[in-house]
Amino acid sequence: MNNNSLTHEHLVLFIDMNSFFASCEQQVNYHLRGRPVAVCVYTGKYGAIIALSIEAKKRGLKSFMRLDEAMKVCPDLVPLETNPQRYREFHIKIMKVLKKYSEDVIPKSIDEAIMDISSYKLLYKDPLELAKKIKADIKKEVGDFLQCSIGIAPNAFLAKLATEIQKPNGLVRITPENIDDILKKLTLTDLPGIASGNAKRLMNAGINTPLQLRYTPPEKLKLALKSIIGLYWHYRLNFKEVDQLSSLEYKSMQAMRQLSKEQRKSIDTLLQLFTSLAMKLEQRMVKQEVYCREFSVSLRYENGSSWSDKIHSEKPIQDGMELLNLMKLRMKKFEQTHHCETIINQQLVSVGMNVSDFISSELLNLNLFEDTIKTNNLRKVVYDIKNKFGKDKVMKAAEMGDEQILKDVIGFGSIKDFYVDEEFKEDF
Ligand SMILES: [Mg+2]
Repeated sequence: MNNNSLTHEHLVLFIDMNSFFASCEQQVNYHLRGRPVAVCVYTGKYGAIIALSIEAKKRGLKSFMRLDEAMKVCPDLVPLETNPQRYREFHIKIMKVLKKYSEDVIPKSIDEAIMDISSYKLLYKDPLELAKKIKADIKKEVGDFLQCSIGIAPNAFLAKLATEIQKPNGLVRITPENIDDILKKLTLTDLPGIASGNAKRLMNAGINTPLQLRYTPPEKLKLALKSIIGLYWHYRLNFKEVDQLSSLEYKSMQAMRQLSKEQRKSIDTLLQLFTSLAMKLEQRMVKQEVYCREFSVSLRYENGSSWSDKIHSEKPIQDGMELLNLMKLRMKKFEQTHHCETIINQQLVSVGMNVSDFISSELLNLNLFEDTIKTNNLRKVVYDIKNKFGKDKVMKAAEMGDEQILKDVIGFGSIKDFYVDEEFKEDF
């Protein structure tokens, strides 16, 4: 691989808002500034903390602690109920600031965004200066109490890693010249995305540090992790992009459907609708020659309540039924742990599905996922026949009888439409 040409082509900024939810609260309320603040789902004794202010983190508190436990550690903690609408408004304002500087801004979550400035190099000669300007603009135009860490690197992963190194208010650039020095100071689990399981697998193969990981041949990494993600790790640490594909037209694809009273009468019809939406996304991914690593479903009910979940898969998936079955398992688990009624029920008024975090088919190493690729080729043949001879000639059993439902599918949105509806989970 020729690293040089890649590093010259790509330049990515990763913007990570520090303690975002709590900072938004401190932004709108002077009384909260400088104090330990905990944003909770609800503020009763057993309310779970979902986000903490910088001050609260310094006191040793951790997200997902129960409020009564946190109050024991930090009696002056200020608990607040979460305010998603507020965070959404701040998010949109921050995106507006970023889009002043590049067309190519991808929100990764409510408090993170990737900005590709590869095509703006003549305009921004010094990316560090640009990052400082962005920080100042966020303070001036969005809120003076909002801080962010910005990482700069030739790919999205290393840019994110750069934000992890310095928090809060960080500014770090990773280049081919300094990467080895930076990796030297880190452990495997310091790399975002390497949890203890993979760290153990790598160590079993004699790879003990991020620096060793960078210089291990990709074939060995694939064996060590028994997965294509071994290849990804090689790419990430050697400046190749696998986490963001700016060349792709679609950052995410969405299928959505509103339900009339008539349509939600029967559970069978509802299940068919879920299938048809998943198949629609599959069809679209086949056409774009991408696989997804993220799949989310969001549901709204008659009484105004909602349910949503997002699946991350290390293995790239294109098969709509596979995605749907994974989601159904999650639903079942949720129903069991919460002892609630079934998630797919007659109160449903809208169903939205979203696939994202794409990887192009060509980046997938063919011999690693032989079965997947075979199925993929078959799938492509099926769609080709459909296009040639009409859709009803070849139909998966799962698609039978959903013609009418398919017609009602609203369509797909780019990330621009999508992120307004993004789930409100802060990345910790
Ligand atoms: Mg953050």
